[in-house]
Amino acid sequence: MEYIDLESLSEKLDKDYKGVLALLQCPMCHSGALMVYIFSVDEDVGVIEDGLIVCKSCYRFYPIKSQCIVMLPDQVRLENPGIQKSHLEFLKKYQENLPYELLKKLRPYTLSEQ
Ligand SMILES: [Zn+2]
Repeated sequence: MEYIDLESLSEKLDKDYKGVLALLQCPMCHSGALMVYIFSVDEDVGVIEDGLIVCKSCYRFYPIKSQCIVMLPDQVRLENPGIQKSHLEFLKKYQENLPYELLKKLRPYTLSEQ
């Protein structure tokens, strides 16, 4: 697992790609204070293959799946069971890579307690 602030993103990532990540804002609270968890990197092009962006302010999470950064607002996520299901499956797949305390706090939904 790699956890990093945007300021100190992995050396494996392309410089311009890091620049784009640094511009991202949480679509719900508009904070630019985001944490990025990297699960895998496509080193040929220097981008995150799979990862998770978490807003430090409101704890909403945004998956990076197959290099695609998915930053949808709550309304879309909560009204589309298919999106919610795929996000939860993604969290489940990588839950071992995330701190338990963080997992519990994620919004707008997170894995249910066992
Ligand atoms: Zn936020």
